[in-house]
Amino acid sequence: MSPILEVETLGRRFGAFTALEGISAAFGKERITAIIGPNGAGKSTFFNLLSGALKPTAGSLRFDGRDMTRVPQARFAQLGIARSYQITNVFPRLTAHENVRTAMQARTSRYNFWGRRDALPDLANRADELLADVGLLSRRDRPAASLAHGEQRALEIGIALASDPKLLLLDEPTAGMGPEETKDMIALLRRLGETRTILLVEHKMKMILGLSERILVLHHGRLIADGSPAEIQADREVRRVYLGQ
Ligand code: ADP
Ligand code: MG
Repeated sequence: MSPILEVETLGRRFGAFTALEGISAAFGKERITAIIGPNGAGKSTFFNLLSGALKPTAGSLRFDGRDMTRVPQARFAQLGIARSYQITNVFPRLTAHENVRTAMQARTSRYNFWGRRDALPDLANRADELLADVGLLSRRDRPAASLAHGEQRALEIGIALASDPKLLLLDEPTAGMGPEETKDMIALLRRLGETRTILLVEHKMKMILGLSERILVLHHGRLIADGSPAEIQADREVRRVYLGQ
């Protein structure tokens, strides 16, 4: 199987400052890959490049066999890359169902959705299926603002899934969650990872070690390690710069 995503000597500078340099890696073999590193290591910059929000100043990016290096951001979502942000990104007054359906409509309108009224029930059913996937079907008719924090994060993932992405980029999906909500989110990510490639930025080491098959470690904008959780835990440089040992 060819990788879904490939980056080659990818880099990004801001003026004279190099935020990311020489990142080469391919993704798609593992279901869930974690990106870790201290504050300022370049994790968000890396995600911004992968989601098209930023353009690289060096290197290249391929997705699903296509060169994405100079492709505009809007195309990234259309071609199958979805991202959820650290800050929740739902319409607070719409219900959970309406949030997901709106996200689906935004996508299907390209295919002249409004001209095909028969597509409506289908869309509603698919929105409910997605809500079930992220464990929110029982919250279907609740305004998003009334959902618990963890449920809003799950809804955000549901919205990201509305575009049926092949690659899901998640920035700290368990940020601000308590232990119960974190447990539910981990179970959700495991299930989602069965059918698509997930890259996530996370700080909680225990969660990362239990969830991901592969870990990339960034430090000062460079990739200092890339391997299985066991390999990363045994890596001397990682222990020195990241785990403080
Ligand atoms: P992380 O997410 O790992 O904490 P970031 O990718 O946000 O790190 O930032 C990496 C480095 O790049 C930091 O030193 C940050 O200050 C710098 N940086 C990020 N975005 C910009 C920008 N738009 N302009 C200038 N410097 C930036
Ligand atoms: Mg960041």
